[in-house]
Amino acid sequence: YRAKKTGNAYNFFTHRLDKEARLRFEMEQDLRKAMDETQFALYLQPRIGLEGNQLLGMEGLIRWCHPVKGICSPSEFIPCAEMNGLIVPMDLWVLRTGCRLTAEWNEKRETPLLISLNISAWHFRDNHLPERVARVLEETGCAPQWLELEITETALMENLAAAAPHLQKLRSMGVSIALDDFGTGYSSLNYLRKIPVDTLKIDRSFIATLTPEDPKGLFLVKTIVDLGKTFDIQVVAEGVEEPEQMRLLQSIGCPVAQGFLWSPPMAPADFPHHLDVFPPEKK
Ligand code: C2E
Ligand code: MG
Ligand code: MG
Ligand code: MG
Repeated sequence: YRAKKTGNAYNFFTHRLDKEARLRFEMEQDLRKAMDETQFALYLQPRIGLEGNQLLGMEGLIRWCHPVKGICSPSEFIPCAEMNGLIVPMDLWVLRTGCRLTAEWNEKRETPLLISLNISAWHFRDNHLPERVARVLEETGCAPQWLELEITETALMENLAAAAPHLQKLRSMGVSIALDDFGTGYSSLNYLRKIPVDTLKIDRSFIATLTPEDPKGLFLVKTIVDLGKTFDIQVVAEGVEEPEQMRLLQSIGCPVAQGFLWSPPMAPADFPHHLDVFPPEKK
């Protein structure tokens, strides 16, 4: 859609908006269909204890297998789903699928796995969230202690008043709360006193730049790790790709990590849920 030479800016603009609106509408229609025909998959990435590569659990990450476009990334379609309310059934599908798998897998394990699921900020404002979670736990036989819900730090800050009571309720049920992408939300940290959280997930931008030649970057990560120890909050490093990053994290006492070094997110059928130890891919 290009404005004709004779056309004016207004015309050009409406054409472009038309196109954007049409694309958004198309995606919305596709998403609705996907929901009915279950074109979604919940991929899983292992969460690892850094002392001995223990398999502690997994983060569930949604994938959309579009019949024409192939595998579509959540950052492409979650914003669309948030705009039209489709995020609610989608988050519920993620909850049910993740909790069902975990209940099934933990039945045969001595040390239970923890499943961590991303819940949209939109959903954290919804008064029904705690009840919905309770019902899914009951339906699937997943213990609340096996479930953690992730909310991004930015989303929490923007919805603090509305989200706080729901987070309290969920925690009183025994469900854990993780702050995702921690460190990118430039917050005062004062909210950590008001909102009890169980886990801080250090954003992968802090991990990607970890080298022995950058003592300040390492010190920053160590400060978050120490903060976790002081407040009795679990700390997880996201996006660990290199053995050196792992060793640096170990040297500052970071307890838990996830990242491509161990594995990218994988289909449930490939997830080694019976393992106790999950070594890195490269040494
Ligand atoms: P997130 O929760 O911070 O997830 C981490 C993202 O980093 C994932 O991207 C994961 O595949 C990727 N990742 C993991 N390890 C590495 C690594 O070592 N290196 C690099 N470069 N990347 C790594 P993904 O799956 O595309 O998800 C993107 C975001 O979409 C997630 O960020 C989360 O905010 C959102 N999301 C994913 N699944 C769901 C879901 O089921 N529901 C909702 N509401 N949001 C979701
Ligand atoms: Mg996450
Ligand atoms: Mg994250
Ligand atoms: Mg992220």
